[in-house]
Amino acid sequence: MPGMGGLEVLKRLRGRNSRVPVLILTAMDGVQDRVRGLDLGADDVASRPMVATELQARLRVQLRQRERLVGLWTQQKSLEHLAITDGLTGLYNHRHFQTRLKDEVRRSQRHGQPLALLLLDLDHFKNINDTHGHPVGDQVLKQLGHRLQQLLRETDLVCRYGGEEFAIVLPHTPAQGAAGVARRVCAEIEKQAWTVGELQLKYTVSIGVAQLQAGMSPEALVGAADQALYQAKQAGR
Ligand code: GH3
Ligand code: MG
Ligand code: MG
Repeated sequence: MPGMGGLEVLKRLRGRNSRVPVLILTAMDGVQDRVRGLDLGADDVASRPMVATELQARLRVQLRQRERLVGLWTQQKSLEHLAITDGLTGLYNHRHFQTRLKDEVRRSQRHGQPLALLLLDLDHFKNINDTHGHPVGDQVLKQLGHRLQQLLRETDLVCRYGGEEFAIVLPHTPAQGAAGVARRVCAEIEKQAWTVGELQLKYTVSIGVAQLQAGMSPEALVGAADQALYQAKQAGR
């Protein structure tokens, strides 16, 4: 290894968080190097000279372990995805909404940027379920979730709050801007004809808008949007 020793290569690999499996071969009396190698993150160490068949067997061990690890990483990724995703709409779920809202509230308070929250509720959704059945209701929620994502910016966070309610976090947005967004969403949803199987449906949504005030907690922000939503419902949906 001209220019750089094996241990130095290993150190730099691990320093870059590389998970490339490393097997170190040292001289028979290189106990210290082998110990050092293991401590630096080598996956296996052995002494030279080594018969080729044993070296190959040791490499196969590394490849098997690698395969198992890759399987676990993939599984972990998909579990992480499941944990934050709503099963019906594919939007972020309530848990992720709470986590991200806390983050955004903290960020907004630190940087003095405005932050707004929309709570959206489908009007008379129970009628859709009662008239056409829950599977149709499910499709309506799915389509609405998809449409909301199209209508909002990528930096806006669209989540299913629960049932037929959606929460939308608007970073860097003051109340006036958020109210504009809410009006546009209401208008777009109202004018759309929704196709579910053979059915053509029309419906409206109500939206409560709130802006984060100084010293406000995430819960208080949700409470304020909820109040506004209640008013929208009272005012005729
Ligand atoms: P309002 O205009 O006051 O909001 O009336 P609403 O009928 O929309 O509200 P209500 O709270 O009376 O009913 C909400 C309904 O949403 C009742 C519940 O069964 C239904 N719902 C909640 N989650 C789901 C779901 O995942 N799928 C379906 N199909 N229905 C759901
Ligand atoms: Mg509701
Ligand atoms: Mg409703």
